[in-house]
Amino acid sequence: MRIGVLASQGAFAEHIAILHRLKVDTVPVRLPHQLATLDGLIIPGGESTSISKLILDYNLTTEISNLANNGLPILGTCAGMILLAKEIPESDVEPLGLMDITVRRNAFGRQKESFETDLSIPVLGEKPFPAIFIRAPLIERVNDGVEILARLADDTIVAAKQGKLLATAFHPELTNDLRFHRYFLDMVGGDNK
Ligand code: GLN
Repeated sequence: MRIGVLASQGAFAEHIAILHRLKVDTVPVRLPHQLATLDGLIIPGGESTSISKLILDYNLTTEISNLANNGLPILGTCAGMILLAKEIPESDVEPLGLMDITVRRNAFGRQKESFETDLSIPVLGEKPFPAIFIRAPLIERVNDGVEILARLADDTIVAAKQGKLLATAFHPELTNDLRFHRYFLDMVGGDNK
């Protein structure tokens, strides 16, 4: 199995480190030819405005969309989730528009700009997941065909899945809990529907 991690900007090194711990062959992706022969792709957190510009400048945008439409599994975390969304109100980010969700950027007020919380994610089992949010977006709306994987106590949607696309508002790569990455790899391997 070979997993690409989009390495244009942001927290790509942390995802690569987790994949190494899980003994997965990993490719940092900066150029279109590096997308060939991947079984899955991770789009990390960072600054979605910068990432969206860089992938356009480096001719990655169309290729990533084509591959996703042909079934390439993608995990988008934080800024990565913003890029996966179809709609981002009041924002000039040009998303890939692959998931039928509406995402609001920087959705948590000042005091909660960054926080950690024990999140219940039923698909990962009973033990709560230590979810780290950093100037995080939230999922405002999901359309048909999108499965909600996690909500905060106030019902805010913070993780979702549509077909082979997975999105989290938080940063699973910043914890020692490898379950979310394992869940993605199971999806890549065909173990999750
Ligand atoms: N606030 C960032 C954005 O809108 C996302 C933050 C993150 O990825 N940690 O792009």
